[in-house]
Amino acid sequence: MAKNLLSIKDLTKEEILDLIKFSNNFIDDEGNFRKENLFPEKIVANVFCEPSTRTKSSFAIAAGNLGCSVVDFNIDNSSVQKGESIFETVDALNLMGVDLCVLRHPKSVIRELAESLPKMVFINAGEGAISHPTQALLDIKTIIDHKNSLDGLKIVIVGDLDHSRVTSSFVEGISNFDVDSLIFSGHPEMCSKYQNPEIGKYEPDFEKALQDADVVMTLRIQYERFEKDLDLDLETYKNSYQLSTSKLGCAKADAIIMHPGPVNYVEITEAVYDSENSVIRQQIANGVAIRMAVLSRFLSS
Ligand code: ASP
Repeated sequence: MAKNLLSIKDLTKEEILDLIKFSNNFIDDEGNFRKENLFPEKIVANVFCEPSTRTKSSFAIAAGNLGCSVVDFNIDNSSVQKGESIFETVDALNLMGVDLCVLRHPKSVIRELAESLPKMVFINAGEGAISHPTQALLDIKTIIDHKNSLDGLKIVIVGDLDHSRVTSSFVEGISNFDVDSLIFSGHPEMCSKYQNPEIGKYEPDFEKALQDADVVMTLRIQYERFEKDLDLDLETYKNSYQLSTSKLGCAKADAIIMHPGPVNYVEITEAVYDSENSVIRQQIANGVAIRMAVLSRFLSS
Protein backbone atom coordinates (compact mmCIF):
# COMPACT_ATOMS: atom_id res chain seq x y z
CA MET A 1 0.00 0.00 0.00
CA ALA A 2 1.21 3.53 -0.80
CA LYS A 3 2.41 5.64 2.16
CA ASN A 4 -0.22 8.35 1.59
CA LEU A 5 -3.80 8.35 0.34
CA LEU A 6 -3.70 11.23 -2.13
CA SER A 7 -6.08 9.81 -4.72
CA ILE A 8 -8.25 6.72 -5.04
CA LYS A 9 -5.95 5.85 -7.96
CA ASP A 10 -3.29 5.11 -5.28
CA LEU A 11 -5.32 2.01 -4.38
CA THR A 12 -5.69 -1.23 -6.33
CA LYS A 13 -9.08 -2.93 -6.57
CA GLU A 14 -7.89 -5.45 -3.93
CA GLU A 15 -6.88 -2.62 -1.58
CA ILE A 16 -10.25 -0.91 -2.06
CA LEU A 17 -12.10 -4.14 -1.25
CA ASP A 18 -9.76 -4.87 1.68
CA LEU A 19 -10.40 -1.42 3.22
CA ILE A 20 -14.16 -1.91 2.85
CA LYS A 21 -14.02 -5.38 4.42
CA PHE A 22 -11.76 -4.11 7.20
CA SER A 23 -14.14 -1.18 7.88
CA ASN A 24 -16.95 -3.66 8.62
CA ASN A 25 -14.98 -4.81 11.70
CA PHE A 26 -15.40 -1.39 13.24
CA ILE A 27 -19.21 -1.55 13.35
CA ASP A 28 -20.86 -3.93 15.83
CA ASP A 29 -24.16 -5.79 15.34
CA GLU A 30 -26.12 -2.87 16.80
CA GLY A 31 -24.53 -0.45 14.34
CA ASN A 32 -22.25 1.17 16.96
CA PHE A 33 -18.63 1.97 16.23
CA ARG A 34 -16.11 -0.09 18.14
CA LYS A 35 -13.58 1.77 20.23
CA GLU A 36 -10.16 0.11 19.96
CA ASN A 37 -7.17 1.66 21.64
CA LEU A 38 -4.90 0.67 18.74
CA PHE A 39 -2.79 3.80 18.26
CA PRO A 40 -2.48 5.62 21.62
CA GLU A 41 0.95 6.98 20.64
CA LYS A 42 -0.18 8.49 17.31
CA ILE A 43 -1.19 12.11 16.69
CA VAL A 44 -3.59 12.94 13.86
CA ALA A 45 -4.09 16.55 12.70
CA ASN A 46 -7.35 17.48 11.00
CA VAL A 47 -6.36 20.39 8.73
CA PHE A 48 -9.45 21.69 6.92
CA CYS A 49 -9.01 24.82 4.83
CA GLU A 50 -12.54 24.59 3.37
CA PRO A 51 -15.85 24.07 5.20
CA SER A 52 -16.79 20.54 6.25
CA THR A 53 -19.21 18.83 8.59
CA ARG A 54 -19.27 15.12 7.79
CA THR A 55 -15.72 14.54 6.59
CA LYS A 56 -14.03 16.56 9.34
CA SER A 57 -16.13 15.19 12.18
CA SER A 58 -15.94 11.62 10.96
CA PHE A 59 -12.13 11.73 10.72
CA ALA A 60 -11.97 13.18 14.26
CA ILE A 61 -14.37 10.54 15.61
CA ALA A 62 -12.56 7.76 13.73
CA ALA A 63 -9.16 8.85 15.08
CA GLY A 64 -10.59 9.11 18.61
CA ASN A 65 -12.18 5.65 18.35
CA LEU A 66 -8.72 4.26 17.48
CA GLY A 67 -7.11 5.87 20.54
CA CYS A 68 -5.19 8.57 18.62
CA SER A 69 -4.76 12.12 19.88
CA VAL A 70 -6.48 14.54 17.51
CA VAL A 71 -5.36 18.10 16.73
CA ASP A 72 -8.38 19.99 15.47
CA PHE A 73 -6.78 22.68 13.34
CA ASN A 74 -9.06 25.67 12.90
CA ILE A 75 -7.87 27.82 10.01
CA ASP A 76 -9.83 30.89 11.15
CA ASN A 77 -7.94 31.07 14.46
CA SER A 78 -4.58 29.99 13.05
CA SER A 79 -1.47 31.83 11.88
CA VAL A 80 -2.74 31.36 8.30
CA GLN A 81 -4.69 34.55 9.16
CA LYS A 82 -1.30 36.20 9.88
CA GLY A 83 -0.01 35.29 6.43
CA GLU A 84 1.52 31.87 7.10
CA SER A 85 1.43 29.47 4.13
CA ILE A 86 -0.05 25.97 4.21
CA PHE A 87 3.51 24.61 3.84
CA GLU A 88 4.78 26.41 6.95
CA THR A 89 1.60 25.45 8.82
CA VAL A 90 1.87 21.73 8.10
CA ASP A 91 5.65 21.78 8.65
CA ALA A 92 5.01 23.28 12.11
CA LEU A 93 2.59 20.44 12.91
CA ASN A 94 5.20 17.96 11.63
CA LEU A 95 7.86 19.45 13.93
CA MET A 96 5.44 19.11 16.86
CA GLY A 97 5.25 15.36 16.24
CA VAL A 98 2.02 14.97 14.25
CA ASP A 99 2.15 11.55 12.56
CA LEU A 100 -0.71 11.88 10.09
CA CYS A 101 -2.26 14.92 8.44
CA VAL A 102 -5.84 14.79 7.13
CA LEU A 103 -5.93 17.66 4.66
CA ARG A 104 -8.73 19.47 2.86
CA HIS A 105 -7.55 22.37 0.72
CA PRO A 106 -9.06 24.32 -2.20
CA LYS A 107 -5.82 23.97 -4.18
CA SER A 108 -3.71 20.99 -5.25
CA VAL A 109 -1.03 21.29 -2.56
CA ILE A 110 -1.13 17.82 -1.05
CA ARG A 111 1.40 16.12 -3.37
CA GLU A 112 4.04 18.79 -2.83
CA LEU A 113 3.44 18.68 0.93
CA ALA A 114 3.75 14.89 0.97
CA GLU A 115 7.03 15.08 -0.95
CA SER A 116 8.53 17.77 1.26
CA LEU A 117 7.49 16.08 4.53
CA PRO A 118 8.27 12.39 3.98
CA LYS A 119 7.92 11.41 7.66
CA MET A 120 4.29 12.48 7.80
CA VAL A 121 1.40 10.46 6.37
CA PHE A 122 -1.11 12.47 4.28
CA ILE A 123 -4.75 11.59 3.72
CA ASN A 124 -6.65 13.66 1.16
CA ALA A 125 -9.98 14.84 2.62
CA GLY A 126 -10.93 16.97 -0.38
CA GLU A 127 -8.71 18.63 -3.00
CA GLY A 128 -10.54 21.54 -4.68
CA ALA A 129 -12.92 20.20 -7.32
CA ILE A 130 -10.40 17.44 -8.10
CA SER A 131 -10.67 14.54 -5.69
CA HIS A 132 -12.13 13.14 -2.47
CA PRO A 133 -10.88 9.54 -2.14
CA THR A 134 -12.38 8.60 1.24
CA GLN A 135 -15.81 9.74 0.03
CA ALA A 136 -15.45 7.36 -2.93
CA LEU A 137 -14.54 4.52 -0.54
CA LEU A 138 -17.58 5.11 1.65
CA ASP A 139 -19.80 5.43 -1.44
CA ILE A 140 -18.52 2.12 -2.82
CA LYS A 141 -18.98 0.50 0.61
CA THR A 142 -22.57 1.76 0.78
CA ILE A 143 -23.34 0.30 -2.66
CA ILE A 144 -21.75 -3.05 -1.74
CA ASP A 145 -23.71 -3.10 1.57
CA HIS A 146 -26.96 -2.94 -0.43
CA LYS A 147 -26.16 -4.62 -3.74
CA ASN A 148 -23.36 -7.04 -2.66
CA SER A 149 -21.16 -5.95 -5.56
CA LEU A 150 -20.81 -3.23 -8.17
CA ASP A 151 -20.70 -5.69 -11.02
CA GLY A 152 -23.65 -5.51 -13.42
CA LEU A 153 -25.19 -2.37 -11.88
CA LYS A 154 -26.62 0.62 -13.68
CA ILE A 155 -25.38 3.74 -11.88
CA VAL A 156 -26.68 7.26 -12.57
CA ILE A 157 -24.96 10.41 -11.29
CA VAL A 158 -26.92 13.67 -11.56
CA GLY A 159 -26.24 17.29 -10.68
CA ASP A 160 -23.36 19.75 -10.79
CA LEU A 161 -20.77 17.24 -11.98
CA ASP A 162 -18.20 19.74 -13.24
CA HIS A 163 -17.47 20.98 -9.70
CA SER A 164 -17.82 17.63 -8.01
CA ARG A 165 -14.71 15.98 -6.55
CA VAL A 166 -17.12 13.32 -5.27
CA THR A 167 -17.94 12.38 -8.86
CA SER A 168 -14.35 12.34 -10.11
CA SER A 169 -13.07 10.11 -7.28
CA PHE A 170 -16.13 7.86 -7.49
CA VAL A 171 -15.64 7.37 -11.24
CA GLU A 172 -11.93 6.60 -10.71
CA GLY A 173 -12.84 4.12 -7.96
CA ILE A 174 -15.54 2.25 -9.87
CA SER A 175 -13.41 2.04 -13.01
CA ASN A 176 -11.87 -0.98 -11.19
CA PHE A 177 -15.21 -2.83 -11.30
CA ASP A 178 -17.47 -4.22 -14.04
CA VAL A 179 -20.44 -1.91 -13.66
CA ASP A 180 -22.99 -2.48 -16.41
CA SER A 181 -23.53 1.18 -17.21
CA LEU A 182 -22.62 4.55 -15.83
CA ILE A 183 -24.79 7.50 -16.89
CA PHE A 184 -24.02 11.15 -16.19
CA SER A 185 -26.99 13.52 -16.20
CA GLY A 186 -27.60 17.16 -15.35
CA HIS A 187 -27.74 20.67 -16.75
CA PRO A 188 -25.38 20.75 -19.78
CA GLU A 189 -23.55 23.78 -18.36
CA MET A 190 -22.78 21.81 -15.19
CA CYS A 191 -21.67 18.69 -17.04
CA SER A 192 -19.27 20.05 -19.65
CA LYS A 193 -16.49 17.67 -18.50
CA TYR A 194 -18.82 14.69 -18.86
CA GLN A 195 -20.23 15.20 -22.39
CA ASN A 196 -17.75 12.71 -23.88
CA PRO A 197 -16.51 10.77 -20.87
CA GLU A 198 -13.80 8.11 -20.97
CA ILE A 199 -16.16 5.71 -19.25
CA GLY A 200 -19.95 5.90 -19.22
CA LYS A 201 -22.13 8.31 -21.20
CA TYR A 202 -23.95 11.61 -20.80
CA GLU A 203 -27.76 11.67 -20.99
CA PRO A 204 -29.26 15.19 -20.59
CA ASP A 205 -32.79 13.79 -20.22
CA PHE A 206 -32.77 12.78 -16.55
CA GLU A 207 -35.89 10.59 -16.77
CA LYS A 208 -34.34 8.66 -19.65
CA ALA A 209 -31.09 8.35 -17.68
CA LEU A 210 -33.03 6.89 -14.73
CA GLN A 211 -34.59 4.00 -16.68
CA ASP A 212 -33.85 0.77 -14.73
CA ALA A 213 -31.20 2.42 -12.57
CA ASP A 214 -29.90 0.45 -9.55
CA VAL A 215 -28.05 3.37 -7.95
CA VAL A 216 -28.78 7.10 -8.25
CA MET A 217 -26.22 9.52 -6.85
CA THR A 218 -27.53 13.08 -6.52
CA LEU A 219 -25.29 16.13 -6.09
CA ARG A 220 -26.01 19.71 -5.03
CA ILE A 221 -25.17 22.78 -7.10
CA GLN A 222 -21.78 23.91 -5.70
CA TYR A 223 -22.44 27.66 -5.93
CA GLU A 224 -19.14 28.43 -4.19
CA ARG A 225 -17.14 26.97 -7.11
CA PHE A 226 -18.78 28.91 -9.95
CA GLU A 227 -16.52 31.60 -11.39
CA LYS A 228 -19.38 33.82 -12.56
CA ASP A 229 -22.91 34.33 -11.25
CA LEU A 230 -25.11 31.42 -12.13
CA ASP A 231 -28.09 32.60 -14.15
CA LEU A 232 -30.45 29.76 -13.37
CA ASP A 233 -34.18 29.50 -12.96
CA LEU A 234 -34.44 27.12 -10.01
CA GLU A 235 -37.98 25.96 -10.82
CA THR A 236 -36.97 25.00 -14.37
CA TYR A 237 -33.86 23.30 -12.98
CA LYS A 238 -35.93 21.33 -10.46
CA ASN A 239 -38.40 20.28 -13.16
CA SER A 240 -35.60 18.73 -15.16
CA TYR A 241 -33.04 17.55 -12.61
CA GLN A 242 -34.54 17.33 -9.11
CA LEU A 243 -34.99 13.71 -8.04
CA SER A 244 -38.68 13.59 -7.08
CA THR A 245 -40.89 10.63 -6.20
CA SER A 246 -42.37 10.63 -9.71
CA LYS A 247 -38.95 10.65 -11.42
CA LEU A 248 -37.76 7.95 -9.02
CA GLY A 249 -40.52 5.78 -10.53
CA CYS A 250 -38.36 5.44 -13.69
CA ALA A 251 -35.59 3.66 -11.74
CA LYS A 252 -35.77 0.07 -10.47
CA ALA A 253 -38.11 -0.34 -7.47
CA ASP A 254 -35.14 -1.27 -5.26
CA ALA A 255 -32.82 1.48 -6.54
CA ILE A 256 -30.74 3.09 -3.83
CA ILE A 257 -30.50 6.89 -3.60
CA MET A 258 -27.24 8.45 -2.52
CA HIS A 259 -25.99 11.97 -1.76
CA PRO A 260 -22.65 12.97 -0.19
CA GLY A 261 -24.26 15.91 1.68
CA PRO A 262 -24.87 18.66 2.39
CA VAL A 263 -28.36 18.35 0.87
CA ASN A 264 -30.00 21.52 -0.45
CA TYR A 265 -33.39 19.99 -1.48
CA VAL A 266 -32.97 21.49 -4.95
CA GLU A 267 -31.32 18.34 -6.33
CA ILE A 268 -33.61 15.97 -4.35
CA THR A 269 -37.01 16.36 -2.67
CA GLU A 270 -37.48 15.80 1.07
CA ALA A 271 -39.82 12.89 0.23
CA VAL A 272 -37.07 11.08 -1.70
CA TYR A 273 -34.48 11.89 0.99
CA ASP A 274 -36.82 10.28 3.55
CA SER A 275 -37.90 7.39 1.31
CA GLU A 276 -37.03 3.73 1.88
CA ASN A 277 -34.73 3.89 -1.15
CA SER A 278 -32.55 6.54 0.46
CA VAL A 279 -29.23 5.36 1.93
CA ILE A 280 -27.97 8.90 2.48
CA ARG A 281 -27.88 8.64 6.27
CA GLN A 282 -26.08 5.28 6.03
CA GLN A 283 -23.42 6.97 3.90
CA ILE A 284 -22.75 9.32 6.82
CA ALA A 285 -22.34 6.43 9.28
CA ASN A 286 -20.20 4.49 6.79
CA GLY A 287 -17.91 7.53 6.68
CA VAL A 288 -16.75 6.82 10.25
CA ALA A 289 -16.13 3.10 9.62
CA ILE A 290 -14.23 3.76 6.37
CA ARG A 291 -12.10 6.44 8.01
CA MET A 292 -11.29 4.11 10.92
CA ALA A 293 -10.11 1.55 8.35
CA VAL A 294 -8.12 4.12 6.36
CA LEU A 295 -6.45 5.59 9.46
CA SER A 296 -5.60 2.12 10.81
CA ARG A 297 -4.04 0.93 7.56
CA PHE A 298 -2.10 4.13 6.85
CA LEU A 299 -0.91 4.54 10.46
CA SER A 300 0.40 0.96 10.43
CA SER A 301 2.14 1.01 7.04
N1 ASP B 1 -19.35 17.15 0.87
C1 ASP B 1 -18.95 16.93 -0.50
C2 ASP B 1 -17.60 17.55 -0.78
O1 ASP B 1 -16.93 17.96 0.14
C3 ASP B 1 -19.98 17.32 -1.49
C4 ASP B 1 -20.46 18.74 -1.49
O2 ASP B 1 -19.88 19.60 -0.81
O3 ASP B 1 -21.44 18.99 -2.21
O4 ASP B 1 -17.18 17.61 -1.93
